[in-house]
Amino acid sequence: MADVEYLKSLLKSHPDFPKKGIVFLDIFPLLRDPVAFETLITHFVHHITSQTITRSSTRKIDVIVGLDARGFLLGPIIALRLGAAFVPVRKKGKLPGECATVTYEKEYGSDSFDIQADAIQPGQNVIVVDDLIATGGSAKAAGELVSKLGGNVLEYLFIIELTFLNATGKLDAPAYSIVKVD
Ligand code: 5GP
Repeated sequence: MADVEYLKSLLKSHPDFPKKGIVFLDIFPLLRDPVAFETLITHFVHHITSQTITRSSTRKIDVIVGLDARGFLLGPIIALRLGAAFVPVRKKGKLPGECATVTYEKEYGSDSFDIQADAIQPGQNVIVVDDLIATGGSAKAAGELVSKLGGNVLEYLFIIELTFLNATGKLDAPAYSIVKVD
């Protein structure tokens, strides 16, 4: 718990970023502190390996999917620690080769995510990672992409959940976040 309090103390709030009325929570101070960064990754890995999702089913995690862009800073490290593959979900048009695409609604307008079509094999067990869940639109879209390729999302992981938005209920698998902001 002291570890979580330490991580929480490093998060910085930026009022009116990227636009007026939004309070942006910056995770980068946490990555600047090697002890905090190590604590963060160890926390996620311990959560995954001690969870019922792995213990009761003895199901191996095959793939860690990281979301554009801050999920790319966490996902590869977690994947390496678990001996799993890392797969990026990117904003549309950035990945080469055949891709699966999902369009999702944002606060204003819509956006699309791509995943490389051969990145996940049918039946593989997947964990989706991002820095923060707000409305849940991005995470839900990523889950749909994994399903399109035949993968099973076992869990969604976030550093931060904005609990007042009640977004985790719209996901097709349990969500875990280290810091809850209400
Ligand atoms: P959602 O799709 O759940 O509404 O928004 C989550 C996405 O927006 C995540 O990819 C996350 O990186 C980004 N995001 C939205 N608000 C914040 C914020 O306050 N801090 C950070 N670090 N990311 C945010």
